[in-house]
Order: sequence, then structure tokens, then C-alpha cells
Amino acid sequence: MPSHRITVRDMIAAIIAAMEPNAICDRCLTEMLDLKGRGHANTRTGELARSNGYHRVSGKCHRCREQRLVISKLP
Ligand SMILES: [Zn+2]
Repeated sequence: MPSHRITVRDMIAAIIAAMEPNAICDRCLTEMLDLKGRGHANTRTGELARSNGYHRVSGKCHRCREQRLVISKLP
């Protein structure tokens, strides 16, 4: 059932949408998706950032409150 498969990218998009208008860092995304050590979150967030509607900048993460590279939805 490929049409029912939820991808990592879908999950990341859902998390970012839920965080809107705040930004979240790659590390928090990785923790929330439980992808530690798999190297997926960085790749996927990078892909999302290059697609329309998202941007990836240095800023304060809404979850861990640290200054990092964060991703958020463009208004
Ligand atoms: Zn964070």
C-alpha cells in the first residue's frame, strides 16, 4: 500500500507545520522522529529547505531554545 506509506519527509513537514510560525532545529527534528544516528533528518530537512515554502536559517530553536540552524515554514 504505497499510497498509505508516511515518509520521513511527510513527518518532518507535519512537525514543522505544527511548530508554525516558530522554527525547529535539525537535532530536535531528529529526536522527535527518533532517527538518531540514521542521518536521515539532516538530509530530509535539507531537501525540504530547498523546496518551496520553507527556509533554513541560523536562529533560535523553539523546542531546545538553542541558537542553531533551524527550519521553518515561510509565511
Ligand atoms: Zn532544537
